[in-house]
Amino acid sequence: MVCGSCSKASGSLKCSRCKMMTYCNRECQAAHWHTHKIHCKRVEMSPQKLQLHFTVGRSGPPITFHENIPAAFCQRDAPRDLTSRWVSQLVDTHEEEVLVRHPGRPCLYCGKPAIKLHTTLAITLHGNPPTVFAMGQPLCTKNRNDGCAVQAQATIDQGLQSPDFPGRGTEIYKA
Ligand SMILES: [Zn+2]
Ligand SMILES: [Zn+2]
Ligand SMILES: [Zn+2]
Repeated sequence: MVCGSCSKASGSLKCSRCKMMTYCNRECQAAHWHTHKIHCKRVEMSPQKLQLHFTVGRSGPPITFHENIPAAFCQRDAPRDLTSRWVSQLVDTHEEEVLVRHPGRPCLYCGKPAIKLHTTLAITLHGNPPTVFAMGQPLCTKNRNDGCAVQAQATIDQGLQSPDFPGRGTEIYKA
């Protein structure tokens, strides 16, 4: 997980109070506390479940997950750094399962076996119910700079302009 202070991908220490923010170590945590303390609260869960709709490739019905979501994230003024981080982690935890449920999916661009989903998220957490659309493209690479990943990003940028895009009118996060 990404450190909330220095942004390195080595943040495995969780803030013990909110269980949302992650850090490399105590030093990074201490350095970020001045900013983080404004949003850091004990977590209260919303009575509503988050619906996570996960689609893979260009078509097919979504796989839907129902998840507990902190009540604070369902507010319109929810702090975006926390919500986007939380949603990205949630989607990451389901990515593998989604890949497994699409066995033998080839990379959309070269046809080699897919090892990764390139995911784009459209999010309305203050909706009723709170909703996330995750659009995953099967890819042969985990490296964003590889040809297939670059094409995937171009497809996403086009898709976001399309009238068929399911999350139109929502907030878009590139995960
Ligand atoms: Zn750090
Ligand atoms: Zn915290
Ligand atoms: Zn490929």
